[in-house]
Amino acid sequence: MTQNPQRTPSVLVIGAGATGMLAVIRLREAGITNVTVIEKADRVGGTWRDNTYPGVACDIPSHHYCYSFEPAPWKAQCATGAELKDYLEHVAKKYRVTERVRFGRTVTSCLWDDAGGRWTVGTDKGDHFVVDFVIAATGILHHPKMPDIPGLDSFAGPAWHTAQWRHDVDLQGQRIGVIGTGSTSHQVVPELVNAGHQVHVFQRTPQWVFPFPNLPFPEWLRRRWIAKPERMRPWKTFYKAFIEQFFVKATVGHPVQNALLNATVKGYLRLAVRNRELRQKLTPDYGVGCKRMVVNFTFYPAIQKANAHLETDAIERIEPEGVRLKTGRLVPLDALVLSTGFHNFNYVRPMTLVGRNGHRLEDSWGHGRYTSAHAVLMAHFPNFFLMLGPGTPIGNNSVIGMAEEQLDYVVRLMGIWRRGEADEIEPTPQAVSAFTSYIKAGLGNSVWTRGCQSWYLDADGVPVVFPYPWQDFVRSMAKINTNELTMVRRQKRGGLHAL
Ligand code: NAP
Repeated sequence: MTQNPQRTPSVLVIGAGATGMLAVIRLREAGITNVTVIEKADRVGGTWRDNTYPGVACDIPSHHYCYSFEPAPWKAQCATGAELKDYLEHVAKKYRVTERVRFGRTVTSCLWDDAGGRWTVGTDKGDHFVVDFVIAATGILHHPKMPDIPGLDSFAGPAWHTAQWRHDVDLQGQRIGVIGTGSTSHQVVPELVNAGHQVHVFQRTPQWVFPFPNLPFPEWLRRRWIAKPERMRPWKTFYKAFIEQFFVKATVGHPVQNALLNATVKGYLRLAVRNRELRQKLTPDYGVGCKRMVVNFTFYPAIQKANAHLETDAIERIEPEGVRLKTGRLVPLDALVLSTGFHNFNYVRPMTLVGRNGHRLEDSWGHGRYTSAHAVLMAHFPNFFLMLGPGTPIGNNSVIGMAEEQLDYVVRLMGIWRRGEADEIEPTPQAVSAFTSYIKAGLGNSVWTRGCQSWYLDADGVPVVFPYPWQDFVRSMAKINTNELTMVRRQKRGGLHAL
């Protein structure tokens, strides 16, 4: 029976990207309005605000990569970064998210007060917020990783990371080096090549590429969608089914989908790259899908153009004039683009996160091993929710869909607090170990353990990814098992009472 229907918590959300914005909307729907979002930048949008490199686009179909409650008349199958940024700004305005956001401040500490049973959140601007719950919506890949190549600082020309694109540099007539061949590089290289620049692509490891032409939607169709947004529903259903039934299942070990995925990417490489020597250089020596699949239709045509040069010899060092290869050859360059990815699983770091009894995040995650219960809960951190945490099915599906499932789960957990059944909620250590074992048990069937290095891996080389079909994830988020939770009720005079 409801004991105290009136309790409404104060909630602090870290980050105003797609997930943090969703948190505000979902909490408000549930009647929780005392919500403050702390955002380090001066606008919403997260990844789609920060990444502005030429060619930046989503590689998940946008009818699927958007909020379920806010379909949009997308211009093409996969939206550009600019279109997604506009979409998120539109949602922020329409759903009055922006009014909850305190921009231009970075959370530097989250400290649990054992005596008071609340979080104190500090920012670099000297604010201190005392709240009942914290939702960390900080994303996974947001700190650019600079390559550890000797001499990087000695380069005479401009050098920058793709996530910090230098729009002020005039690239006309320049010889440009691009280090890295991940999803980002596959998007940026064709833009640079097709603009006529001399482009040298430094590939350490080739990637498997799934061919997906980004076809534009005709204007008449978009007008029909605008007139009646329900008309977009079948498109969403189609793309959702395609991703979940084909892509996700192929990666978690369903033999038919996996065989089809293998045949598609291998056949595409064979057909798209006719030169045998170049094709060999572009052929990975690890299983399809082991690294995060590149979804692209422009890289292979671009890399075969006369002004594109694939450099596969290892880099020795960077010199003022260019990149020196281990073979001794110098590749002379005027500008250097670092498409070298992100520090994986950084989440809330580098902030100071201290939970119950002085337990620090590094006490749980020291040495690069990431654990959680159901991907959002961490033992010793009561009333703290980590969105897209370790064990989320990231990779080949829409993170917005994942965040929607996780936030529904979080709102249900908060329901325990709101009904007065508990004041402090965290997973038991057993729940964390059980979830970790559950993840590990499924990995053997997945593509992620097929002999590659990727940003999915922890320090032991274990993928930190949910290795089961999408529906299993949805089911795991649908119900709360209170046996997995440590719930504490705080008595009026300040004492604690474990339930
Ligand atoms: P990434 O996949 O981590 O790729 C980094 C690249 O840099 C790799 O080719 C890596 O080589 C290379 N590299 C790193 N350090 C190097 C060094 N010291 N020397 C030489 N090469 C080095 O990063 P990303 O391409 O930015 O993509 C990251 C993730 O962002 C993707 O997997 C995807 O999930 C997401 N993303 C999504 C979209 C989208 O449309 N949804 C678009 C772009 C990115 P190795 O492979 O040898 O390590």
